[in-house]
Amino acid sequence: MKKVDHIGIAVKSIDTALDYYIHTLGLELLAIEEVASQNVKVAFIDAGNTKIELLEPLSDNGAIANFITKRGEGVHHIAFGVTDIRSRMVELHELGVHLVDKQPKIGAGGAQVAFLHPKSSFGVLFELCDKSSKGE
Ligand code: ZN
Repeated sequence: MKKVDHIGIAVKSIDTALDYYIHTLGLELLAIEEVASQNVKVAFIDAGNTKIELLEPLSDNGAIANFITKRGEGVHHIAFGVTDIRSRMVELHELGVHLVDKQPKIGAGGAQVAFLHPKSSFGVLFELCDKSSKGE
């Protein structure tokens, strides 16, 4: 794990939340995009040494919609930047870590992403995020 690439935060509305992050906290919006594979709209915000990823569900079902229904808005995951994501996944699997995804998915910005199950990570949903080998 090289660094925390971003912190994912589930929100009901990116438009509403952005006002707080940009105008109240004074942070800079980097990009907004829809991620079809995860059925979400995301906004990336520059937070200095890392980024904040706001995640808004695009429908009433899907992981982010379910999260907000169950637990409300708030911190959803922490993403580590990695290279060679498939090798990292194999290594972690061999160390007994339960992976949510068997294969990397295409996430925001074309990065390959995979999630580690919170049961293996003391209650935290970790994401592996590999921007070095886009859309393999
Ligand atoms: Zn993320």
